[in-house]
Amino acid sequence: MMTDMAQRPQPRLVLVVDDQEINRDALGIILEEKGYETLYAENGEEALSAIRKHRGELSLVMLDLMMPVKNGFEVLDEMQAESRLRKIPVIVLTADKSAELLALQKGAADFITKPFDMPEIILARVERIIELSEGRRLISAAEQDQLTGLYTRNFFYEYAENFWKFHPDRHLDALALNIEQFHVLNAVNGYEFGDRVLRTLGEEIRAFLAEREGIAGRFDADAFEIYCPEQPDYAAVLGRFQERLNSAFKNVDIRLRMGVMPWQAGVEPIRLFDRARVACAMVRGNYQHPLMIHDEEMRKKELLNQRLLNDLNAAIEEEQLRVYFQPKYDIQRDPPRMVSAEALVRWVHPELGMISPGVFIPLLEGNGLITRLDHFVWRKTAEQIASWRKRCGFAVPVSVNLSRADVFDRSLEERLTRLIQENGLTFRDLKLEVTESAYTDNARELLDTVRSLREKGFEIEMDDFGSGYSSLNMLSEMPIDVLKMDMKFIRNIEQKKTDRQLVRLVLDIARSLKLRVVAEGVETEGQLAFLKKRGCDLVQGYYFSRPLPAEEFEKLMMREKEEET
Ligand code: C2E
Ligand code: MG
Ligand code: MG
Repeated sequence: MMTDMAQRPQPRLVLVVDDQEINRDALGIILEEKGYETLYAENGEEALSAIRKHRGELSLVMLDLMMPVKNGFEVLDEMQAESRLRKIPVIVLTADKSAELLALQKGAADFITKPFDMPEIILARVERIIELSEGRRLISAAEQDQLTGLYTRNFFYEYAENFWKFHPDRHLDALALNIEQFHVLNAVNGYEFGDRVLRTLGEEIRAFLAEREGIAGRFDADAFEIYCPEQPDYAAVLGRFQERLNSAFKNVDIRLRMGVMPWQAGVEPIRLFDRARVACAMVRGNYQHPLMIHDEEMRKKELLNQRLLNDLNAAIEEEQLRVYFQPKYDIQRDPPRMVSAEALVRWVHPELGMISPGVFIPLLEGNGLITRLDHFVWRKTAEQIASWRKRCGFAVPVSVNLSRADVFDRSLEERLTRLIQENGLTFRDLKLEVTESAYTDNARELLDTVRSLREKGFEIEMDDFGSGYSSLNMLSEMPIDVLKMDMKFIRNIEQKKTDRQLVRLVLDIARSLKLRVVAEGVETEGQLAFLKKRGCDLVQGYYFSRPLPAEEFEKLMMREKEEET
């Protein structure tokens, strides 16, 4: 099935539909680099006429949902209504998780939420969807997967359901098995090779099942599912499959991951497999721990989250929360000079030790507790600036993070103003970072609030730019002074041309809008050199310094000051 496609000579044509130029450009760069041919449309109307015109050649449509004239949902509806268009696969581009289900119901095949998020992920999804749509047409009726001899999806589930109906008390577990980055493996080594890997794994699974009961299926390229009696040691089961691949393909690093959902009274197999797949997805990319057993470990994680939520109030009261400071450097000066900092919260839990905000902030965002934490951090930060000013005679401005919930709080402006006044600061001393994703739905109220804060004199930085889904047009109307480019942009700029191109695109856009740019997560000399050459203004990252406790930051600040004078 796949070898067939590997020989397909002509490039695939992809239609990119988005009303925002920056998004079209970004996707275009990524696709064209890989040899795709691209067409563009700016709204649903244009999209439909392009789809009708090129329906014979189109391999894929990448479709924004929110567009003027005719939106993405309407395009999906019209495509579904026309049998000639129905089989063209569509990947939906959306910032709004809640829109995904509706799009799926309307026939979309997949989603991309972050156009700038790692080009290889975007490419893998594009490739996967195209393969799927081409593959499906070839094998449609078969019960058995020709490549591996395992069952195809429908037959596998039908068999599993039947078995379960007659033996509801037999403890059969659901296993989901995937190959890490299978599409990359395919792209790098060729489809022939990919097929051999799948066939080998299929063989080993059949050997495994021959020794016990159970059935297995393969769907969507590298998704294997196994329905078998409870095993005493799943790490050993995964190890066995992994070992077989290791010895069959000595020179290529192939990694498996597995999710297991144990039998549960009254739960039908198809539900078990849903959870096995979730467990499997959770260990994606986690080469140290490629196995996840739903229940035990996932329940543990849920319990931990619950505990953190319960402990937070005590944490604030007992001062378990610490504010760290990470400097930002002006890199267009020679030598680079520290000009400001960001306040970042840390939680030193009495029993669990240091917990990163990456773990607990998302929990709090879901339930309003975040504002409480943020107010605490802002106050500590303002007091710290005042204290530096008093003891050291100066202090650099410090930015604090604002969550979406903060911005919808009516007392925000008053609270911040009071903080400034009570600590004898000016509006220039405290900068505000608002994450890009807060802006994406373009809520009027949010824009008004931020605009008003900016008019007061607060400098506004858009945090994590590129991780969400804002656009050039919106950007020009947004009340912001600084773009903070998301760390993901920077990570691979030394290795990857596409990433360098995306960074340049962002820098160009920022320049044309007269916004300054902060690059986050800069760790190496090479990254710094590239950013400096391309005119990036500010850099924050481990290259200069990690986030530091106040006392250490103070020393750094003083040292910088001495060197300057
Ligand atoms: P952010 O605001 O984008 O902060 C930057 C994050 O990148 C920080 O992680 C920082 O430690 C990390 N970082 C900086 N330089 C480098 C580098 O060179 N390499 C790498 N790998 N990482 C680097 P941290 O402190 O874990 O914070 C994570 C996120 O948690 C923050 O992302 C922010 O969204 C949130 N956060 C932190 N403090 C607060 C807070 O007080 N309030 C709110 N609402 N959110 C906060
Ligand atoms: Mg930030
Ligand atoms: Mg950031």
